[in-house]
Amino acid sequence: MSFVVTIDGPSAAGKSTTARAAAARLGFLYVDTGALYRALALKVMDTGVSPDDPAAVERCIAETRLDLSGSPEHAHVWLDGTDVSEAIRTPAVSEMASRLAAQGGVRRGLVEIQRALRERGPLVGEGRDLGTVVFPDAEVKIYLDADLDTRAHRRYRELQQRGIPMPLDEVRGELERRDGRDRERADSPLRPPEDARIVDTTGMDIVAQVEAVLAVVRANPACPPDALRRAGGPRAGPGPGTKG
Ligand code: C5P
Repeated sequence: MSFVVTIDGPSAAGKSTTARAAAARLGFLYVDTGALYRALALKVMDTGVSPDDPAAVERCIAETRLDLSGSPEHAHVWLDGTDVSEAIRTPAVSEMASRLAAQGGVRRGLVEIQRALRERGPLVGEGRDLGTVVFPDAEVKIYLDADLDTRAHRRYRELQQRGIPMPLDEVRGELERRDGRDRERADSPLRPPEDARIVDTTGMDIVAQVEAVLAVVRANPACPPDALRRAGGPRAGPGPGTKG
């Protein structure tokens, strides 16, 4: 089985940037599991399937082909053979993905796809339930968190850069709603895995976030030696800025 690093946490905690950079440094695959939920949401929206009809959504999943490809720097998500990497980044898709993600049938369908990705090689995956449900035997589990204000500002800037300006209050409200749903759902709720390293990224810059993750990976004796060489630095415990 390939070496797996899971990075879970609430929205805009810094998971994507950190997971991409860590995967690039280690030479591992980067697996953005949220992109799968988003691609399915796009399909549901485009085909007019009712998101409130779990049986119809499950039929839709059975007829849908989802895949991830590319490098950490240029990751792509494919929906029925079409590259939807950009189209899935709208607030409407975020909201629909979050609603669908609460359905057990959706989670079961997408978990299979995620587990199969491990056959392609060592990976850094990011999501909400990777350490708890998808890869419970992952070698390294990280839980990234940050306070709501920090996360709201990050998402606000990200949306601005994408040309989707949204008032900060609305961004904060959207994050709270989605995180609340993720934490309260019955199936695979968002919570730190018991054996995860918790990293609070409030006040940390990206370099420090990546180093905190790589320090935990380096400290794991099962980490492939070539990845250790690529990532550099000593085999050491986690550096400053981490807790838990
Ligand atoms: O991470 P991202 O914001 O792209 O994920 C979109 C939505 O997909 C999240 O709000 C969450 O509800 C859902 N999701 C999930 N489990 C994952 C990844 C994403 O429930 N492993």
